Amino acid sequence: MRKGREKRTDMTKRNMPIATVAANWKMNKTAVEAAEMVRSMKDDLEGVSGVETIVCPGFPSLSAVAEILRGSTVHVGAQNMHHETEGAYTGEVSAAMLMETCRYVIVGHSERRLHFGETDEDVNLKAKAAFKAGLIPIVCVGEKLEEREQGGAERFVSSQIRGALSGVHPSGIVVAYEPVWAIGTGRAATPHLAQSIMALIRHELSDIWGPETARTTPLLYGGSVTPDNISDFVRQPDIDGALVGGASLDADSFVGIVRSASAAGN
Ligand code: PEP
Repeated sequence: MRKGREKRTDMTKRNMPIATVAANWKMNKTAVEAAEMVRSMKDDLEGVSGVETIVCPGFPSLSAVAEILRGSTVHVGAQNMHHETEGAYTGEVSAAMLMETCRYVIVGHSERRLHFGETDEDVNLKAKAAFKAGLIPIVCVGEKLEEREQGGAERFVSSQIRGALSGVHPSGIVVAYEPVWAIGTGRAATPHLAQSIMALIRHELSDIWGPETARTTPLLYGGSVTPDNISDFVRQPDIDGALVGGASLDADSFVGIVRSASAAGN
């Protein structure tokens, strides 16, 4: 039972999704491969009720995937963007460019922070620019193993939330909690641990934006989600869905996750 929040069945009546499930394909699949996979699972994904399903392929695949999903209930997202609107930023992609094909954009993924030095300030600028252009940012936060082992996970995640969301317009943001030690390792957080951090995130959002926005902001868990463990996550009161890496690369596995998320939320 949700503590202080409506049950999902009540939320569905207000046209809110039962769950939000996003596939992060990272640097995998050519445009041909991405199109083939989306074609193969489109009907199955559309047949699942109540789940906001998002596919985030690499930049070169966005057009092909968006074309296949035109008019579909399945949405397209990008994995990154630059915060500037245009200019001399060779190799970068702006929110306006993404708007032609995407509804969502992932910002602040831990792999961007780790390999490309992105800071909370960068994530904040990207979230603001995404919102301004009309995209829904999926803002990622999550502690590394060292921070957890030193007992600082809560403090670290709170500070990431405040840094990334400062001055960001409250409507239409998705937050993903992805403990870095759980990403791609096969060692998912326990639903209990994820719930405790996500309750804290909701509390921080309430402080920043007020209780109503905090209550309705989708909070996704990410880190070794599979068709077998997704139900246990979405049954938690503060977990509204998942951001899925490895297990989203296979059509049967991703469809299984979306179906289980729908069933668990009903
Ligand atoms: C991710 O990269 O966002 C992710 C959660 O990866 P995985 O599901 O493979 O742990």
